[in-house]
Amino acid sequence: MTTEALIHLALRSTTALLALAAVAFGVLRAVTTRGDMLRRLLRLVGALVLLGIAWLALRDTLATIDRGTAPEATIEAWAWLVLDALLPVFFLLLIEGWRRRDALEARLAEQSETDALTGLPNRRGFAALAGLALAAARRQGTPCAVVALDLDRFKAINDGHGHAAGDVVLRGVGAAIRASVRGSDVAGRLGGEEFALLLPGDDIADAVSLADRLRALVRATVPHPAGGDAAVTLSVGVAPVGAGAAPADLAAALAAADRALYDAKRRGRDQVLVAA
Ligand code: GH3
Ligand code: MG
Ligand code: MG
Repeated sequence: MTTEALIHLALRSTTALLALAAVAFGVLRAVTTRGDMLRRLLRLVGALVLLGIAWLALRDTLATIDRGTAPEATIEAWAWLVLDALLPVFFLLLIEGWRRRDALEARLAEQSETDALTGLPNRRGFAALAGLALAAARRQGTPCAVVALDLDRFKAINDGHGHAAGDVVLRGVGAAIRASVRGSDVAGRLGGEEFALLLPGDDIADAVSLADRLRALVRATVPHPAGGDAAVTLSVGVAPVGAGAAPADLAAALAAADRALYDAKRRGRDQVLVAA
């Protein structure tokens, strides 16, 4: 085979491989795109066009191997030469653009479920993760508990020391929560100074002891901006979920935990109560 044919072969097979990689990537994206049918369809059509180019390039590669020489300098050969030069750049840019957009979409999706202040899942993220954890626990037949937490007299911290001081306290509580839960637990900031936990595998006694440990940790590690003897305290409600007579769904269990939480407020705050 002549040097010219070898160069030709290398160029054409590179084009074919890149086109095939782009096809595979395009089909994968079409399959994994959720919901949007039109986008899936467009991606499939794009993948088909790329498949056509890959096929032409592959056919030319095989023909060159067959002949053992580069093709005649016809108009078609010149057109291929231009394509050979442009297509690799085009495919690489295309794949890079797709990759970037996928990464951006994934980041946006994650941000829309994350609370920026504490880094914990927000209400939406908590509902999604807790729903999954609850379903898994139900399949395994293990008990679960939900915990609703609310900072005591938080408005006074904001009013007396400023919103920024309040934010520091919220971040501290978020860190204490993260330090207290296991990897299989789900913790979230539902909004304002309200947090929630889903504890798979925990019965009520386990959940109460975790809540008490967390209250002690917050007291010990989150300084109250007023200083002195002032402490950051939490009121907590605990409810079972998905076992025995307990509510099967997360929203109902959270509502029960919330009612217990407000009983804890009424009884003087800084305590853990179990749902009736
Ligand atoms: P209670 O003991 O009954 O729970 O009283 P509280 O003052 O903690 O509760 P209340 O619901 O009256 O006040 C909650 C406050 O939380 C009011 C709101 O301004 C504040 N807040 C909500 N979100 C944020 C936030 O992101 N940062 C700060 N600094 N404050 C927030
Ligand atoms: Mg509140
Ligand atoms: Mg509060």
